[in-house]
Parts: sequence; structure tokens; C-alpha cells
Amino acid sequence: MRTPKVRELGEALRSLFSRPYTVRYPYEPVVPPEAFRGKPKFVEEECIGCGACAQVCPARAIDVVNVVEGGVGRRTLTIHHDHCIFCGQCHRFCTTEKGVILTNEFETGTYDRRQAIATVEKELVICQECGEVIATVDQLRWVAQKLGPKAFGNMGLTLLLSEDLGLVSPAVRDPRRALDRGDNVSILCPRCRREVILYEQWGP
Ligand code: SF4
Ligand code: SF4
Repeated sequence: MRTPKVRELGEALRSLFSRPYTVRYPYEPVVPPEAFRGKPKFVEEECIGCGACAQVCPARAIDVVNVVEGGVGRRTLTIHHDHCIFCGQCHRFCTTEKGVILTNEFETGTYDRRQAIATVEKELVICQECGEVIATVDQLRWVAQKLGPKAFGNMGLTLLLSEDLGLVSPAVRDPRRALDRGDNVSILCPRCRREVILYEQWGP
């Protein structure tokens, strides 16, 4: 019984003259280790706005909000740091693998929880017939890049790439006009594309 007590006393004396094991945070800054999982944030140039990170987030800390007005749409993705559990699933399953990263920032204290967020905004592609959201522009560009020349087998991607190359102007469709074969060269959602194909095959 006496030996452990002597050892503890020795450790107590040694600790009086050695450096403390704890850090002096918040009086001194702390540098987290390299693999530290801190606040996630979007990387604007790498994120395509697909929303896959929101689907895999176990804490439902990522919101995806589409706003469409006058045929123009924007998608806003928001990470709520006050809900985040810093698990890293968003980064692990990110479609581009680089659209969201975990920083080494760990301070989440705030007087206003609405400020504990990280956001990214992307332009949406809207169906020219029904106004349905198809995807983000960046998402379609990313798919086209993956497909290479095969992308030209899809009319929506062909139109997008042609616009990027300056070969065509963004088409404006009169919403009062019924679908017809001219809509083969419109940007359509899958449902409206099916309607046009049926029209082609079977007529009005
Ligand atoms: S690219 Fe990655 S970070 Fe951006 S929305 Fe898709 S999954 Fe989320
Ligand atoms: S780190 Fe985890 S909890 Fe936080 S946003 Fe990403 S997936 Fe959600």
C-alpha cells in the first residue's frame, strides 16, 4: 500500500516543476492536429450544388433551399454548425470529393445561432415547359465533363455546352405554347422530355 502512495507523491512533486499537460486555451491559441475534424465549409469552386452531402448528413445539419422566380432559380446550401456533429460524412461522400472540407476551426460559441453557418449558392437549371428544377448548372457541367463526347447524346447537356461555347443563346420559351417537336431542342425535365418523345411517336 505504501509504494503506490510514494509513487503518487513523487509524480505530484515532479509535476510541480514540469510543463503542464493541459493547454492555456483560451488565453493562448491552440493549433489542432492535422487530421482534426473542425467546422465544415463549402469550397465554392469545387462544389456543384448537388445536395448529396445533405442527404448523408446524420445530424440533418445541411439545408438545401431552391428559390425560383420568373424562370430563374438559385439553390442555397447551408451548413448549420450548431447542429453539426463534425462526423465528416459530408466530406467523405461529397460527389466531387472536394466540395466540402472540414477545417481545423473548432470555436462554435456565438450569441446568435443564425450566424453559425457556412453557405454556398448555385444557379439552377429550370425546365422550360413546367418550371420544375432539373439540377444546378455546375452539376450538369460536371456530368458533361465526366461523360466527355458522350455528353452530346443528351439534348439538355448539348444545349448547356453549346451555350458555354457561345454557339447558341439561352432559349426563351413561350409557356402558353403547347409542347411540340420544336421542344426537342428545349431544356426539359424528364417528365416533359417524355411528353415530347410521345408527341413525336404518336402525335398530339
Ligand atoms: S458537390 Fe459536395 S459539397 Fe457540394 S452539394 Fe454536392 S455533395 Fe455537397
Ligand atoms: S460533419 Fe457530419 S454532421 Fe456536420 S455537416 Fe458534415 S455530415 Fe453533417
